[in-house]
Amino acid sequence: MRIPLDKICVKSGILCDNCQMKIDRGLYEKWEVDIMKSLLELEDKYKKETKDLSYKKSIIFDSVLYVIMENIKGRKYEVERYLEKELKDLGIKKVVLVEYAENPKELIYNILNPVKIDNVSIYYSPDGSIYYIVEVPSYEKGRLKDKEDAVKRIFKVLTKKDIYFELIDKKGSLIIRREEENFNQRLDTEKLSKLFKEL
Ligand SMILES: [Zn+2]
Repeated sequence: MRIPLDKICVKSGILCDNCQMKIDRGLYEKWEVDIMKSLLELEDKYKKETKDLSYKKSIIFDSVLYVIMENIKGRKYEVERYLEKELKDLGIKKVVLVEYAENPKELIYNILNPVKIDNVSIYYSPDGSIYYIVEVPSYEKGRLKDKEDAVKRIFKVLTKKDIYFELIDKKGSLIIRREEENFNQRLDTEKLSKLFKEL
């Protein structure tokens, strides 16, 4: 498992200057050392299974702890339950593991999972700021509402950027899909005619 601080510092709880600097600069919160410590204890027990895991960041929102990591794969459920047990003294009700992605669009899909997304687009504001506009089908309204604020917060912490959500009614999204299908068909016709020319 990879963590952004020295393993020896996290295990002992006595941070070297380098690790302390990362906390002082605000890259990691002081309480994240406890999260990393629990993860290292998990690593001691399950070395092979946790080998590829890489810790990125933790965010607490509404008593839910979101742990952002790379290479979670099939370990999601086990790691979540383990951390919930280990960290219950910190007043955490629930732990949710989120797969990290360098690409902001991919990250949005990961954080919102399993809510369905129709489209993600980037909006460049005249004042220089960048927003992400996420189109969600209207039948996901309920599930989106539960997650919306947490998703915005996580995305902001990880990328320093904002997300706006737009609910698209089902008719609208069907029209978009049909246009995509037409486009694909056009592509196929083009490909075919090219093939015929080559023959
Ligand atoms: Zn250190």
